[in-house]
Amino acid sequence: MKLKALNKIAEPFGSTNKMPVLFLGHGSPMNAIEENEFVTGFRNIAKEIPKPNAILCVSAHWETNGTLVTAMDMPPTIHDFGGFPKALFDVQYPAPGSPELALYTKTIIKKTEVGLDDKWGLDHGAWSVIRHLYPQADIPVIQMSLDYNQAPQYHYELAKELASLRKKGVLIIGSGNMVHNLRMVAWDKLNTDDYGFDWAIEASNMMKQFILSGDHQQLINFRSQGKSFNLAIPTPEHYLPLLYALALKEKNENISLFNDKAVGGSLTMTSLKIDNG
Ligand code: ZN
Repeated sequence: MKLKALNKIAEPFGSTNKMPVLFLGHGSPMNAIEENEFVTGFRNIAKEIPKPNAILCVSAHWETNGTLVTAMDMPPTIHDFGGFPKALFDVQYPAPGSPELALYTKTIIKKTEVGLDDKWGLDHGAWSVIRHLYPQADIPVIQMSLDYNQAPQYHYELAKELASLRKKGVLIIGSGNMVHNLRMVAWDKLNTDDYGFDWAIEASNMMKQFILSGDHQQLINFRSQGKSFNLAIPTPEHYLPLLYALALKEKNENISLFNDKAVGGSLTMTSLKIDNG
């Protein structure tokens, strides 16, 4: 009886077909409440994939000492930004958590001792996009943090240990931005369609080439790619969730890009789906 209960904890969900993996370019928090083509892109991608049992999100906005997963029953909606309209602070995304999935994730990761967190919740890297995919907030969501002590190669290898979750109906989402330099945003060009600085376009094109050719090592070694990459990735937190998604791609799977546009010169919204479709 006791053993049976243990098995139940270890296997929170039954076996499913392999779930796709997403990387979502979240951009401005305002995308949470605006109607625009990126929001449409998020909605459309949700229609293309089976309804998940749960979501594990690696957000650019949760960096910690060590790797943590949120393990509370009801993760609070965190408004981790300033200077935005009240309407954005009013947004709640009341998706349940999944302590079972958090514990299971901890057990399958061997690379490090994953901590169970009861203090975080859902930051805007998670809820600003997931609310467009699943507006009913009826799918449990856990977040996994980015260990700020670790190198890109470590993150890539850690992500590989999440692979088995895909066959339990867990949708793994990396949420960040491939090109993300807030200091260089052309605020007067925010409404200019697909406006990217030359270096941003160059970095974006190189990234997409490496992504589509499967040359992950070049992406892991992003600090060796020259000036355009250094401008595109001044700090790694928005870029690393991309490595988490790519690490989960298997040989027979395809990558489709969407929301592939630049915004305000120094951001790209480029997102991708990995699946065998
Ligand atoms: Zn962000």
